[in-house]
Amino acid sequence: MAAKLLDRFLRYVQVETQSDDRSPNCPSTPGQLNLQRMLKSELEQLGAADVILTPEGYLMATIPATSKRQGIPTVAFFAHVDTAPDFSGRNVKPIVHRNYQGGPIRFPDDPRLVLDAKSAPDLLHAKGKDLVTASGTTLLGADDKAGVAILVTLADTLLRNPKLKHGKIRLCFTPDEEIGRGVDRLNLQQLNADVAYTLDGGPPGEICWETFSADAAEVTIEGVSTHPGEARSKGMVSAIQLAAKLINSLPREQCAPESTSDREGFIHPTRIEGGVERSVIKMILRDFELDGLAAKRKIVQRLCEGLRAAEPRARIRCQIRKQYRNMAYWLRQNMQPVDHARSAVRSLGLEPIDRAIRGGTDGSRLTEKGLPCPNLFTGMHNIHGPLEWVAVQDMELAVKQCVALAHSWVTKLR
Ligand SMILES: [Zn+2]
Repeated sequence: MAAKLLDRFLRYVQVETQSDDRSPNCPSTPGQLNLQRMLKSELEQLGAADVILTPEGYLMATIPATSKRQGIPTVAFFAHVDTAPDFSGRNVKPIVHRNYQGGPIRFPDDPRLVLDAKSAPDLLHAKGKDLVTASGTTLLGADDKAGVAILVTLADTLLRNPKLKHGKIRLCFTPDEEIGRGVDRLNLQQLNADVAYTLDGGPPGEICWETFSADAAEVTIEGVSTHPGEARSKGMVSAIQLAAKLINSLPREQCAPESTSDREGFIHPTRIEGGVERSVIKMILRDFELDGLAAKRKIVQRLCEGLRAAEPRARIRCQIRKQYRNMAYWLRQNMQPVDHARSAVRSLGLEPIDRAIRGGTDGSRLTEKGLPCPNLFTGMHNIHGPLEWVAVQDMELAVKQCVALAHSWVTKLR
């Protein structure tokens, strides 16, 4: 299995699929469709059923049930085909480091870079494994091509071994996860699953069933523009100065991403643009709990009120919109999807590790929409940068986890 899995992974990471939040299209970039078409024909060749690529760029397929038992829930597995826009994903040149012996890994295209246990403590567990990295100038794209290669290999494994018992399995490859649109145009009736898992997590054993709850704020400041030479007499009100004042008033010590960790939330200005007449600040608000998130909305709203009071001639608008909610609010009411995942991880001889994600997943929104969807490990590390790496043996474990999970839903019916 490992050779085919590695071959798939190496081919997929060489297809450029970075998503782009400035594009209104779905998928946001054409490269994602190139990979989807490639996957479509591979799944067809493997003998998967109902292989469909929708006009919006969602690829779905079925692995028919091998168990005749009635009432087995349909399990869907998800992976996203796009890579993060944060760092170049063009001309990825994957390098395989066979039988890694510990010690620093260097990169041919950027000799200043070093990957070692200091930058990646998990390397300590990777001795003897076959690692894959990029060459120094790009990310690798294991996030989430590892998930993609795992799912195609899962299809291969299940279709070749009808003795492995499972119910109906649905595979879904989504575009634009990294720009938060991964499930925007997904038709859940077409997917037709009872429970789902994203293959988009980190080290072996990790199960994520808790994410941030998230809102986005946009503050628009309209000032009064005059010629700067007559600014005092004509009453200039600089939107730039007011925007700077607002940003400076944010509680940086307790409430910025740079100063928080674990279960603490934050307010994070992500973009500021504009001029004297009009400036716009975009912020993201994050917290695990709804009251913590509400408190952060209050902070932003109060700061805007303060700015209005201090400068009545300016017009200040604060718009806050919901992004996604912590999947744990729903999963805690029925932990079966997590319990099955834990039993699958234990069947590999690993101890399940619960990890709350300081971010969101496609599963956050799927779970809220009624399709429970924890996130499973793939083996990816140091994602979104040039030091990204993955071990082939860990991806192989992830395939076995999915086989065990599919089987687990047969044996333990609701
Ligand atoms: Zn991802």
